[in-house]
Amino acid sequence: MKLAGQKVAILGAGRSGRAAARLALREGGSVTLYDAASPESFEGVAKEIACHPWATTETGRACEASLVVISPGIETGGEFAQSFAEGAVEFIGETEFAARFFGGRVVGITGTNGKTTTTELVQGMIRAGGMSCEACGNYGRPLADVVLENNHPDTVSLELSSFQLETIEAFRPDVAVWLNFSSDHMDRYRSVGEYHAAKLRIFENQKAEDTAVVRLGEEVGDLIARRVSFSATEAGADYELEGASIVSGGSKVLNLYTTRLRGIHNAENVMAAVAAVQALGVSCEAASEALAGYAPPLHRCELIRTLDGVEYINDSKATNLHALEAALLSQDRPTILIAGGKEKGLDYKPLLPRLEKCVEMIVVFGEIRDRLAAIFQQAVTTRIADSLEEAVAIAQNAAAHGATVLFSPGTSSFDMFSGYEERGDAFRAAVQALR
Ligand code: ADP
Repeated sequence: MKLAGQKVAILGAGRSGRAAARLALREGGSVTLYDAASPESFEGVAKEIACHPWATTETGRACEASLVVISPGIETGGEFAQSFAEGAVEFIGETEFAARFFGGRVVGITGTNGKTTTTELVQGMIRAGGMSCEACGNYGRPLADVVLENNHPDTVSLELSSFQLETIEAFRPDVAVWLNFSSDHMDRYRSVGEYHAAKLRIFENQKAEDTAVVRLGEEVGDLIARRVSFSATEAGADYELEGASIVSGGSKVLNLYTTRLRGIHNAENVMAAVAAVQALGVSCEAASEALAGYAPPLHRCELIRTLDGVEYINDSKATNLHALEAALLSQDRPTILIAGGKEKGLDYKPLLPRLEKCVEMIVVFGEIRDRLAAIFQQAVTTRIADSLEEAVAIAQNAAAHGATVLFSPGTSSFDMFSGYEERGDAFRAAVQALR
């Protein structure tokens, strides 16, 4: 891709946009970074990159860039992005753009839940196998940032959200991992089908020599790549669970006793990771070594404290029903659930049978609390709290010795917090303050 002399517009002055702008600059483009925010949001941008704060659709229509690169945080189909797209020759996302300058191998990982855990596992296993690997993408560090390094890693373990996949064109992962699918992000997509279609694009440029690692039973249609399946619950997959062993082709690949990851959902993340790295030639021994040393990320079914025989678990990263359900499935003690947060249009009714089976009491909080209470009350005693601290106090009062207080919100946090990390930290602080 030649950018010399070309006008490049980068939309979004966050991490992805800034990295894409630096990459476009390195490749000789004449680069402008646009954002609807104020000039302070552009602090620290290199002086060779022109900055355009307070950008609007009018700015977009007047923009003469032939290449427009959009950050995943900006709605692709929205008026703002489309005003830039109209006059452009090419309109692509940061992942597509960066991948064009990356010569190494790519493991792309998508799914509604488990992406971060699997992305970290893949990185660890590939490194243990003796190759260099960087976890990036939706994981935090943009791919463009990795591409800017002088020494590229041999491989990237690239976490991909639907927002990143909806703006690809020729992006082709050597290994594409599809963990699972469930409704989410209904505040950004018009239908579940639209969200599904965006995610499915991970496979669209793969060829027969590539690998697609797909959970058994997922509806992904016909694939051109070699398909490898995994499942912790269904028989007949290429990677199956037998007790605590992951088995493939009749032989044991890994033993899950060695890991600190818990729950069926994490067993599937491990299966997907090992299937992905084996496709790149990493041995079972290397994968096993990486798994044994793996420390699970915070805010994902993280045990905070045991007080008076009650376990307090922080699963703040559960921002949708599917993750909440996975957390419930992992509990084997009487459970008091704390849930709630931003209203993002999800349907919670399908959760009722599971709640009835697994939960003793629910405490709801946040913007969505009244709607959640109305639904959950049909199955389980539900109390409403005005703050997270109050929710924790109510749960403590209700929890008997041997119970678990599970904080698994089932929606996002932006009604009260800057993100799931801040929300999880607030839960942790509330629990640490209990006497
Ligand atoms: P993502 O990056 O896709 O959001 P994470 O690994 O950060 O995935 O986990 C997000 C949430 O989903 C956590 O609450 C976690 O406990 C739960 N989770 C992780 N893996 C799975 C899975 N395979 N299936 C269902 N839920 C999962």
